[in-house]
Amino acid sequence: MGGHGGGTAEVEGSSGLRAVVMDRIGEPVVVREVPDPTPPAGGVVVRVHATGLCRSDWHAWAGHDDVALPHVPGHELAGVVVEVGAGVERWAVGDRVTVPFVCGCGRCEHCRSGNAQVCPQQEQPGFTHWGSFAELVALHAADTNLVAVPEGVSFAAAASLGCRFATAFRALTARARLEAGEWLTVVGTGGVGLSAVMIAKALGARVVAVDRHQVALDAASALGADHVLLATGPTTDGVLPDGLPGSDVPARVHELTGGGSQVAVDAVGSEQTCADSVLSLRRRGRHVQVGLLPPVGGHPRVPMARVIGWELDLLGSHGMAAADYPAMLALIASGALRPQQLIERVVGLDEAAALLPVFDRASPAGMTMIDPLRG
Ligand SMILES: [Zn+2]
Ligand SMILES: [Zn+2]
Repeated sequence: MGGHGGGTAEVEGSSGLRAVVMDRIGEPVVVREVPDPTPPAGGVVVRVHATGLCRSDWHAWAGHDDVALPHVPGHELAGVVVEVGAGVERWAVGDRVTVPFVCGCGRCEHCRSGNAQVCPQQEQPGFTHWGSFAELVALHAADTNLVAVPEGVSFAAAASLGCRFATAFRALTARARLEAGEWLTVVGTGGVGLSAVMIAKALGARVVAVDRHQVALDAASALGADHVLLATGPTTDGVLPDGLPGSDVPARVHELTGGGSQVAVDAVGSEQTCADSVLSLRRRGRHVQVGLLPPVGGHPRVPMARVIGWELDLLGSHGMAAADYPAMLALIASGALRPQQLIERVVGLDEAAALLPVFDRASPAGMTMIDPLRG
């Protein structure tokens, strides 16, 4: 797929660049020099100034995705264009850019209609080819996928958008069509859940945040969540009316919101959190599934009797196309949205290599950002 990782770059004569490299699934990762990438036709090479460390990177490290080894992870990035491939019209060396984690082909009916996030030929840096845990990264179909980063937006803030923040933005706006005054339940307040809390408050909605960790709920409160609920796991009898593995979260949400929330998001991705989200809804409410439910976890049982009887909408959300970024960037430039507040810490490549294998056990109250130029 990519020029990078596809063996097209030559070691000899290359200056070399530092990257976090996975040689084997589930084993320690190292920082070492790799060949410079070359821009694919229609693509560019970007010098990475910021790249987020995400649970999806850990999934790839753990073998839940099909990646070719050796591999360089990283899919939430921002930086400066340093080389432009043949046929690129909209971009030049020196441009400040970011990309969605789903990069569309730019040619199919979905890409042409502005929906590159569901492109059947999509590329994902850090999955389908080498990603951004490196000083340089190659990106495909630049005219479709690159987004200009305004001067007033930092690289770190821009990099935080590509996966979790943009996914939350699209889930609440384009998918759920959340309105001012409505109640939103956010199940799971990690990176994507906290993004949802911030965006919902900016839209004038009221928020109930749910998580198993008090530190994550404290972060949600700091972002303006109206109520926080500590999830304590299944109820004592362990079963809800639909026969699902239940918790007391839905009942507590119904109490706080006077009958359930209009919109609910499962930002975790498990049978339990999906059911908690659906069952927290008011009649005719809208559920958005954002947390991944990989086949490795088995197919979740979903309370479909409630979906029918209460006329609930079940919606999926998969990132956000570059074409939809301007509205979100305008809110960031105006200060209405402040993704930089979600960044908990900035580390270099060496520390990132140490953090990746233990990322599933870490519970940071916000995002970890990597600056590859920091060493
Ligand atoms: Zn396409
Ligand atoms: Zn991500």
